[in-house]
Amino acid sequence: MDFNEYQKLASATADFTGRSPEYKIMYSCMGLAGETGEVIEKVKKVMRNNNGAMSEAEREAIKQEIGDVLWYLSQVARFCDIAFDDAAKANVEKLADRRARGVIRSEGDKR
Ligand SMILES: [Mg+2]
Repeated sequence: MDFNEYQKLASATADFTGRSPEYKIMYSCMGLAGETGEVIEKVKKVMRNNNGAMSEAEREAIKQEIGDVLWYLSQVARFCDIAFDDAAKANVEKLADRRARGVIRSEGDKR
């Protein structure tokens, strides 16, 4: 599945009926922040409870939360009129360029 296909399928499960454009973006951003926290919380508990050794159940639970992050991220992109594929492609191109120029470990958004 490519990112645009995912974004389309994810959007088909969203219900923003009657909501303003601002609400759609803010709701999606808040959901993204919340779901990101859920991923981090589950990873934290793996570290705390078993020194990083992950059970299959924990791996599955983290996978589910990563999916939730992806869903909200796709909606943030959607309401910013950004094709999910374009964001993914731009990201790997940016990182490949930084690696090629030897600045992958430097700081700053514009390198
Ligand atoms: Mg979740």
